[in-house]
Amino acid sequence: MLDKKNFPVLRNNPRLIYLDSASTTLKPDLVIAAEAEFLTKNGANPHTDAFENALLASEMIESTRKTIANFIGVENVQEIVFTTGATMSINQITHGLKHLIQPGDEILVTDLEHAANLLPWIVLAKETGALIKTLSLNPQTMGIDLFKLKRSITDKTKIVTFAHATNTIGYLNDVGLISLEIKQINPNVIICVDAAQSIGHTEVKIDQWAIDFLAFSAHKIYGPFGIGVLWGKMKLLKQMPPLIYGGGMSSYIAEDYSGYELTAVPHKFEAGTPNLSAIQSFQKAVQWVSEIGMNKIQTYEQELKTYAIAQINKLNLAKKITFYNLNNHAPILTFNVNGWNAQDVANYLDVKHNIAVRTGEHCARLTGKMFAKNSIRASFGIYTTKSDIDLLLNALTKEDEFLD
Ligand code: PLP
Repeated sequence: MLDKKNFPVLRNNPRLIYLDSASTTLKPDLVIAAEAEFLTKNGANPHTDAFENALLASEMIESTRKTIANFIGVENVQEIVFTTGATMSINQITHGLKHLIQPGDEILVTDLEHAANLLPWIVLAKETGALIKTLSLNPQTMGIDLFKLKRSITDKTKIVTFAHATNTIGYLNDVGLISLEIKQINPNVIICVDAAQSIGHTEVKIDQWAIDFLAFSAHKIYGPFGIGVLWGKMKLLKQMPPLIYGGGMSSYIAEDYSGYELTAVPHKFEAGTPNLSAIQSFQKAVQWVSEIGMNKIQTYEQELKTYAIAQINKLNLAKKITFYNLNNHAPILTFNVNGWNAQDVANYLDVKHNIAVRTGEHCARLTGKMFAKNSIRASFGIYTTKSDIDLLLNALTKEDEFLD
């Protein structure tokens, strides 16, 4: 869809076949330039109007906040909180909700959550006496089982948390339908959605969902590292204590140290000097994908997956390779070569063919409960081509070279 020449990492490594976009997407020139532009043209710490560049830095943060709000269908811009990424966003949510959780409350999670959307909840449960329960996945699609969902929600359910798309199988959950079902059964349930994997591949429009929190990272949507978003309903955000304290988030500290007042949401969650260059380049990334169109990106990546499936059939690969997600259109191929260790196959792909894939549990520690403890994951982005897929699949036919 987009020429590899737009992406410096691919330009600088012309032989690299990058199939690890689910881990992080490569950044185009204009996103990198936007990061450098802040450092070279502004360089100021915000939070003062004492001089122009500082003022411009503050304005840039708020203008990025507006861009992000618009991008994900959020009306109240102040509900967008900048964090270091999805991991911090979810940790802020669990920390912030602690005082609302009672012993015996139930927190529902799926078995394919990334550790970032599992560990913080387990810790929260341990700290509060809440119980973690399984939100069942359909064994075929590995998406949320809508039938079982209805039976899982009770008046004890406090929180339901799940990925819009998982980072292993990639099935795109129908968040609108799921959130509506949950709220119909128990309107008090707090619904948290991890959009780390979906944000760069499909439209995310919160105004069409009945959810309470959303988390994602900029680096999964062609943006910079070290910046991400927590969106939450204002009513909940107001009640939540921050995860970190420091500069830029207090309006008053008592001289005898006996008390303090925090600034309003979102700034009370953004202590310390912000990652300004990343915020500027995040805005550029979101503007850029918006111009391309999320629907176009999704259609292109679905075409890639359809092509991959056709080639797998043509090469008769299913005979010796177990594929776990050929029944969805996610831009991810997850598989194991029968009889081979996933790491050995990945090393072969890297050393012999310069193909970068990822192996293991992909930080989703419970994949063994659903499909395989270790697997190989090839994931696509807007720079992935059919030729990349051909190279991968052809390389996988040469079993006799795996251990050469
Ligand atoms: N959730 C999912 C589904 C992910 O795939 C990832 C990253 O791979 C994360 C959360 C965590 O994102 P980050 O490491 O950017 O905080």
